[in-house]
Amino acid sequence: MKIVTIIGARPQFIKAAVISREFAQYGDIEEIIVHTGQHYDSNMSDIFFEEMSIAMPKYHLGIGGYSQGSMTGKMIEKLEEVLTTEDPDYILVYGDTNSTLAGAIAATKLHIPIIHIEAGLRSFNMNMPEEVNRILTDRVSSLLFCPTQEAYKNLEAEGLEHWKSKAFVSGDVMQDGAFFYGNKAKPLDLDMRSDDFALCTVHRAENTNSEARLREIFAALTLLSKKCQIVLPLHPRTKAQLADFCIDIPEAVKVIEPVGYLHMIWLIKNCSFVITDSGGLQKEAFFFSKYCITLRDETEWVELVSEGVNILTGASRAKILDTYEQFRAKPPITFDQSLYGGGLASQKIVQTIIKDFETI
Ligand code: UDP
Repeated sequence: MKIVTIIGARPQFIKAAVISREFAQYGDIEEIIVHTGQHYDSNMSDIFFEEMSIAMPKYHLGIGGYSQGSMTGKMIEKLEEVLTTEDPDYILVYGDTNSTLAGAIAATKLHIPIIHIEAGLRSFNMNMPEEVNRILTDRVSSLLFCPTQEAYKNLEAEGLEHWKSKAFVSGDVMQDGAFFYGNKAKPLDLDMRSDDFALCTVHRAENTNSEARLREIFAALTLLSKKCQIVLPLHPRTKAQLADFCIDIPEAVKVIEPVGYLHMIWLIKNCSFVITDSGGLQKEAFFFSKYCITLRDETEWVELVSEGVNILTGASRAKILDTYEQFRAKPPITFDQSLYGGGLASQKIVQTIIKDFETI
């Protein structure tokens, strides 16, 4: 069986590391990796390939830094060439980026079956480029692997029974990753005033493209940094937007360059709580039993909110500070880990793909 995996952004490298390791257990699966180039800084891309032993991409398309439509269009064109040359049995895409959508469009036009991992997630906010990417990708995919029951229900609500696709609740491959890499965490020497720190990341377009939202978030961080140490691995897009809007980062915030996954795991395990607009980090906070302040108005990971371990504050300064006080008052506890498949997602996914291949 020949599978072309299309990846391009940081969270996809992490997910691909997990699934590729599972593919490697089977001698008769040939996986070819295509890197679209959507993320290109070495600390947003190369470091993940090195640290997580992901096979080097056979194709690197070098398409990064364009506008949404232009990037997606260029990727479709190049991917069509690659897929025509390779003629795989399936293509595999992860999540919700432009690389995901471009892969899905290129493959569907060539009648190549598409495997979508992280299918069915919805924020119900069509202003998010990610929401558009996921809905369109799901609709043309043959095998849909939903990380949660809720994600499966979303597909049912969109008419899954009338599609030719087969959908499965597989659990979340990021939990497999957290289990596997959990005890491989690499410590960081941060030279901070306190070991009691909050880990913060901000990068979603809805926050970074809006001056008002970004200003409000950094005003909240300024106030919070008087109460606790904050560590901020700064995403390149956020760095650029802060400079454009002339928003100052409070001095008390420890700003660092984006880190590799093993440093990141160390930061998550050692922080007191998480403040983020990242999809992946919301779950990783949960995997390592950290409360999470989510700088968004909605989340795809609704079960975390129902569990009371994640609170959506949007970009509201008052809500961010209130939630901080609320979480500070809670005793640290170990969260029940039954939500995301218990670390068996990659095994389930690969076995299901093999079974499907035997029937086509
Ligand atoms: N991450 C990382 N280094 C960083 C920031 C994040 O390794 O400096 C990891 C994080 O732990 C998670 C993934 O990158 O596994 C999340 O990626 P991101 O927040 O860029 O995307 P999203 O999950 O929101 O799509």
